[in-house]
Amino acid sequence: MKFDVLTLFPETFELVMKESIIGRAQEKGLVEVNAIDIRDYTKDKHRKVDDYPFGGGNGMVMMCQPVFDAFRAVTQGLYAKPRVIFMSPQGRVLTQKMAVELSKEEHLILLCGHYEGIDERIIEELVDEEISIGDYVLTGGELPAMVLIDCVSRLIPGVLSSEGSFSDESHFNGLLEYPQYTRPAEYEGRPVPEILLSGHHANIQKWRAEQSLERTRKKRPDLYEEYLKGK
Ligand code: SAM
Repeated sequence: MKFDVLTLFPETFELVMKESIIGRAQEKGLVEVNAIDIRDYTKDKHRKVDDYPFGGGNGMVMMCQPVFDAFRAVTQGLYAKPRVIFMSPQGRVLTQKMAVELSKEEHLILLCGHYEGIDERIIEELVDEEISIGDYVLTGGELPAMVLIDCVSRLIPGVLSSEGSFSDESHFNGLLEYPQYTRPAEYEGRPVPEILLSGHHANIQKWRAEQSLERTRKKRPDLYEEYLKGK
């Protein structure tokens, strides 16, 4: 799966996207992340990409021309227009369900805003949907784009060692994951639950399912209610 990210800060993707699971997925050719510098497409001799908002107000607004030209360069010669997502605090809040749906795409273009935001005509003309990573405001769309790439990429077959790695996890089936323990079996007087050492697979599964329900009820009653409605 290919992610083309239009950004003013391409170097921010260098480290995070080259490390660990996503880094290995890129090496294996399962995922490709290209950070495209919008500034390379400005026609201004000072490489200016933003200007004052019409009507006054705070901050600077990213201009149409460099973003349109960067977009055209990325999509030039493509048979079909890839889905274009603008990372925005005004978008639908990203969920695991949305990540599963996005993981079925072959190519996504992610647009990162900065400063006060971007000229609305960019959204009207180029963007298919706006996605937020939560109801708070960040300084730029780079971290949100990385969050989206990370959670979508790990759902692509072959990126994690087994599908169970994510289908057991929190949010996959609407519940939170059961508690996890590793060695030693007792640490500073705190033993792990006996059942996990029993070797009885069916009982362990049952215990985990109960724990998953119970901790969702306690920690996220909103999710628990939704889960019960869907039963
Ligand atoms: N003035 C904008 C508004 O009130 O909607 C906020 C602009 S914000 C300071 C700059 C950029 O950061 C946005 O264009 C967007 O790309 C990104 N951004 C900020 N918060 C975000 C969030 N919660 N989710 C996704 N992107 C976000």
